[in-house]
Amino acid sequence: MSNSTISAISTPFSDTASAVALPVLSADVRVPLRTGGEIAYAALDYAASAPVLSHVWADVAEFAPLYGSVHRGAGHLSLRATELFEHSRATVAAFLGCRPGDQVLFTRSTTDSLNLLAAALPPKTRVFVFESEHHAALLPWRRHAVTHLPVPGSPEESVRALDEALAGAPSGEPKLLCVTGASNVTGELWPVRELAAVAHRHGARVVLDAAQLAPHRRVNIAQLDVDWVAFSGHKLYAPFGAGVLAGRADWLRAAEPYLAGGGATRVVASRAGGGLAVEWVADEARHEAGSPNVIGCYAIASACRALSAAGFDALEAHESRLLGLLREGLARVPAVRELSLFGPGAPRVAVVSFTVAGWDSAEFARELSERYGIGVRAGLFCAQPLVRRLLGAQGPADGCAGPEQAVRVSFGAGTPEEHVTRLV
Ligand code: PLP
Repeated sequence: MSNSTISAISTPFSDTASAVALPVLSADVRVPLRTGGEIAYAALDYAASAPVLSHVWADVAEFAPLYGSVHRGAGHLSLRATELFEHSRATVAAFLGCRPGDQVLFTRSTTDSLNLLAAALPPKTRVFVFESEHHAALLPWRRHAVTHLPVPGSPEESVRALDEALAGAPSGEPKLLCVTGASNVTGELWPVRELAAVAHRHGARVVLDAAQLAPHRRVNIAQLDVDWVAFSGHKLYAPFGAGVLAGRADWLRAAEPYLAGGGATRVVASRAGGGLAVEWVADEARHEAGSPNVIGCYAIASACRALSAAGFDALEAHESRLLGLLREGLARVPAVRELSLFGPGAPRVAVVSFTVAGWDSAEFARELSERYGIGVRAGLFCAQPLVRRLLGAQGPADGCAGPEQAVRVSFGAGTPEEHVTRLV
């Protein structure tokens, strides 16, 4: 483990650092074609799971032989692993621009992070959420009072709708807005800062689902002025299995632990009259019971460092150029209809969904894979109300998925132009 890795942790991140290449592990994978032969795999499904950065894998490989149980063992490697685990937390805090007093909790994923927050809400919290959200942001609040806001037709409409809904909400009760930073269906950016300003004016707090935003744009919790941010390691060029919930500590400290078990407790004692007396810790460990995914958390921190070193400006420039090529190419195909929430000119990250007239989307995606070695996704992308609306289809009353679907193409760091031109 190099010392430079550790000293880099306290360095403030900058987007103006000179661009460095961000190669990904899948770059050299060759796949068989139905027509015979094989071809270099074109991974164009980053929105589901991004390929792991080679840099992250190398960092993990260096750490793996040395890791030990964190916050438990007395041995050298346990102490070292604990130090690096906590450094990883500090790296993520710096990456997100956390405020003094904010907590960074390691979870399994964005889904886990949002469910954790849902479990930590004070009694009587009312949650506001747009129906266009990914199911991970739409559904965890079901044990609370929820106001579902209709899918807006423009960013301005989303701000207006939230303002009206909050103005009509009972005062004196805690309120929370859960909103995505970038749509996992259309890639379109949401007006997070404006929504947060409206929410705070009405005394509501905000959790940002940054699962799709964080891999493409700098997410700064203080600058966006949101209360919490959630994201997943596997969409941020790290391996599966670890995620983050970062933000205000007060509700988290006051809540019952999300998971009950070892590491979350200060004291567990038998009571004289029977039963147990339990005192929970107040810091991050309160919600992180059990042995953590040390490698996964370390990999997230490594990805944060790599992305920061490369610079989000450079990444955005790379993605915007390829996005332009993709969308211009798709626009030349009369059968293709791109899905959009806010209109074709709306700013977006490198995520595009479309239908192809005369093609079943799942069959189309299979064809791209088997004939061209291109990996995309077909489906409703765990955002069924939104995709159905964009397809102009009615949601089935019985909750079945229904036949209509779309094709989604998404990419990012390490995507060569050839992958996009091959698809077009
Ligand atoms: N939010 C958005 C916008 C997503 O795109 C996803 C995953 O696709 C999630 C949340 C859930 O992420 P995970 O499956 O890593 O929990």
